Amino acid sequence: MSACAIVLAGGKGTRSADPTVPKVSQEIGGKSLLQWQIDLIREAGIPEAIVVAGHLSEAVFALCELLDTTGVKLQVVSEPHPQGTVKAVEFAAEFTSSTNFLVLSGDVLAKFPSKEFLQQFEASGANAAVVIHPSTHPQDSDKVFPRHDTTVQVLAKGQSSEGIPNLASAGVFALTREALANYGTAKDIGSDLLFLAAENHDLFAFNSSHYLKDTGTPDRLASAQKDYESGTFARRSAPVLRHAILLDRDGVINAVNPEVYRSSDYQVLPGVAAALTRINQSGIPVFVVTNQPGIAKGYMSFHEHERIRASLDQQLGSCSAFVDDYYFCPHHPEGGHEGEVLRLKTNCSCRKPNTGMAISIANDHGVDLRGSIVIGDTWRDEGLATRIGSEFLHVSANCQLSSQHKCFPSTPAALANALDQLTC
Ligand SMILES: [Zn+2]
Ligand SMILES: [Zn+2]
Repeated sequence: MSACAIVLAGGKGTRSADPTVPKVSQEIGGKSLLQWQIDLIREAGIPEAIVVAGHLSEAVFALCELLDTTGVKLQVVSEPHPQGTVKAVEFAAEFTSSTNFLVLSGDVLAKFPSKEFLQQFEASGANAAVVIHPSTHPQDSDKVFPRHDTTVQVLAKGQSSEGIPNLASAGVFALTREALANYGTAKDIGSDLLFLAAENHDLFAFNSSHYLKDTGTPDRLASAQKDYESGTFARRSAPVLRHAILLDRDGVINAVNPEVYRSSDYQVLPGVAAALTRINQSGIPVFVVTNQPGIAKGYMSFHEHERIRASLDQQLGSCSAFVDDYYFCPHHPEGGHEGEVLRLKTNCSCRKPNTGMAISIANDHGVDLRGSIVIGDTWRDEGLATRIGSEFLHVSANCQLSSQHKCFPSTPAALANALDQLTC
């Protein structure tokens, strides 16, 4: 299948740092956003790109003359009457015979595994795809949450996302020509088109922990520049051998509440959100790795579990903290609980200390487990760390485990140690 990249460079940028220059010409690390995007397109293996200009199109044309477009055939087209991002893609699609489109919002700085995104999109059979990540500004983002039952929930910015975990569109999409034909009534890709595709079970969501940042406001542009200078960008965007923190949930992020399964009963422990914020800002990815046998035992449904995750996300989000992705084992090996879910009563490969979730993290996110760190409060977490060759940091007021590891009285103390080790 032939693919073409489409860069949406026509936005008015009324909120951007300097509304008199096109957003795509703003520089990070001495390189224009558009050059970063062309480099991403080249890395994705896409030979053709179309830049759609509208507002300030003369300046966009001039900028394109200066770009290094080695390996990418570039066209710049000017949309006479901008009518939303869907129409802009339709307009660009007239200039190519390609059947698949990688669509980049003009104000996104992205360095992520774009090739894998496109390969998985094609394998999914869906006509629309979106790259998602936790948002540092959830109120102002289009939420996209892939549910346990493989449906995807889409909520446009401003809609109440109560009960929905913090995952949002990163402004990078893939569409087929068929998506344009089927959902052509939509105006905006990020909200309307994704919503229609999701309703039709025709949307693939790709969760990325790599570098994807919307630079559409002066604050966000400055923050991207800061990330570039501090090494955060390099750490997050590294294609391979990234080191990560694998974080247990109950007893580590929130207090242990045995036999309590209502989302309102879950409270993030003191200091955890602030410690996570520092890790997020460093560019070290953080993944939750949690056994949730209460699902197999029938104590809570998948839906209730999602609400608990959403509640924790919301508490972390109020400090601008997030976890990059969330892995859970819903299984339990022994039968005999009243109301249990028989199909989840199994000897699975994901229940810690088994390594299934960690291996998924390595594959999904390009993480080197050997240089990574597991933080947890039980022998199951220690066992996982041993099996995957990671260091184990034990959160415990009085350590009862036998083997060699570092012990910390609180999660923030363990997180601070992990941050020091992984950024030194
Ligand atoms: Zn499992
Ligand atoms: Zn210990």
